Amino acid sequence: AKEMGGNRYEIADPAHDARAITRHDLTNRLPVALERGEFFVEYQPLIGLRDGAVHGAEALVRWGHPVHGVLGPDRFIPLAENTGQIVPLGRWVLEQAARQAQAWAAEHTHGCGPRVNVNLSPLQLHHPDLVGEVTRVLDETGLAPEALCLEVTESALIGADPEALRPLRRIADLGVEIALDDFGTGYSNLSSLRWLPVSVLKLDRAFTRGMRRHPADPVDLKIVEGIVSLAHGLGLTVTVEGIETSTQAEHLRALGCDTGQGWYYGRPGPPERLHELHLADAG
Ligand code: C2E
Ligand code: CA
Ligand code: CA
Ligand code: CA
Repeated sequence: AKEMGGNRYEIADPAHDARAITRHDLTNRLPVALERGEFFVEYQPLIGLRDGAVHGAEALVRWGHPVHGVLGPDRFIPLAENTGQIVPLGRWVLEQAARQAQAWAAEHTHGCGPRVNVNLSPLQLHHPDLVGEVTRVLDETGLAPEALCLEVTESALIGADPEALRPLRRIADLGVEIALDDFGTGYSNLSSLRWLPVSVLKLDRAFTRGMRRHPADPVDLKIVEGIVSLAHGLGLTVTVEGIETSTQAEHLRALGCDTGQGWYYGRPGPPERLHELHLADAG
């Protein structure tokens, strides 16, 4: 039986969901897990749709749990958000990713190495020391601000008052790129693109599902065409996630999307793999 702390009801109730016990268990273990180095970061390539080159990678955190095996972020990020543990965990991911991108840059003598995208949770976004943290990480790793992109979700930004966006604007002023992640999944307010400090629009894979095979869903094509035209008109770059087939890649390239990411190009993996991919297309 699992150690449940003071909560005896969870042990006494036989109908209780085993998953809920795990949630409780995982939540309690988060701080220890960070101290013991149980987390690791995988990198998924971001590909230029026109040139096919590796432009960068998204850093995605995993938990190598000693009992449950490797857990994906959907299992523990929401828990870490609830307890505030996402703040130290997110800082750790940022440090890892920045160090990794700086290592790529150092190995890649001609031109620049792949850039790195890091997810920022809503709680981190509203943390009072966010600007200080990002500045420190850039100083400590020596990473060029332009080689870092922070991904923030639409839901974390929409409805935020202008005051709350000031730290993000200061980070953008440093030269760090800001991407609006999962675009189109929340209550999209297209006019908010006028004043949000973002330079990249990241389309959720919901938009690309209907393009996996020929013929593509004509409505999906029209919607993406419209978003791309709007984004480009506002000077934003468009990235698409969830590209699983070559057909999708062709459609999205034809629609003018700039970069893409998905299983077709490469699953998230260890940093060495990204470096090999990047070198392969440099040569
Ligand atoms: P996201 O930011 O939307 O990341 C993209 C997710 O799509 C990743 O799932 C990735 O593995 C998955 N994916 C990539 N290509 C494909 C594809 O072709 N098909 C399909 N079906 N899926 C694809 P993952 O790694 O499980 O991450 C899930 C979410 O967890 C992320 O969604 C992000 O919101 C969150 N997350 C991951 N790492 C971090 C982190 O360090 N901090 C924070 N705050 N959140 C993170
Ligand atoms: Ca993301
Ligand atoms: Ca996303
Ligand atoms: Ca998504």
